[in-house]
Amino acid sequence: MKTAVYPGSFDPITLGHIDIINRASKIFDELIVAVLMNSAKIPLFDTNERVDMIEKSVCDFKNVKVETFDGLLVDFMRKKNTGIVVRGLRAVTDYEYEIQLAQTNRALDNNIDTIFFTTDVKYSYLSSSVVKNIAEYNGDVDKFVTNYVKQKILKKYNL
Ligand code: ADP
Repeated sequence: MKTAVYPGSFDPITLGHIDIINRASKIFDELIVAVLMNSAKIPLFDTNERVDMIEKSVCDFKNVKVETFDGLLVDFMRKKNTGIVVRGLRAVTDYEYEIQLAQTNRALDNNIDTIFFTTDVKYSYLSSSVVKNIAEYNGDVDKFVTNYVKQKILKKYNL
């Protein structure tokens, strides 16, 4: 069975992330969306909230699971007994960071391979930060996140 891991902060999950999950779930037997707990960034949503929003977004994908991890991705990968990491590439600006991450993971464990999905053009400008910025100033985030996630963001900002 081919299991892949899609790690990230998902603070919160956007339609861009869901597009990658949808496409990756068709290629691998099992996809684990792995929510990073020890990010350097202070998240808007705590881990449980982020997991809840992902679970609500992926419930139709039968081979997708949501888990959390702390520490190094390579250790989580070993625990899951797989070497396939899924990441998304939006634009050339993502490339430098992503290639560095992929090469570092491979330097730590040469069983790790990172598979990049090019984003759908309509999500190429979309990030969790952009969504948070728009929502904070009462902008419409309908096109960027599910309705469930939108309600959670509005509540967070007391809107
Ligand atoms: P991180 O904080 O680890 O960068 P993110 O949650 O921001 O985590 O993103 C996880 C992965 O999803 C990254 O590979 C990122 O490039 C990708 N990603 C984020 N937004 C999009 C999008 N709109 N379309 C495609 N891929 C995306």
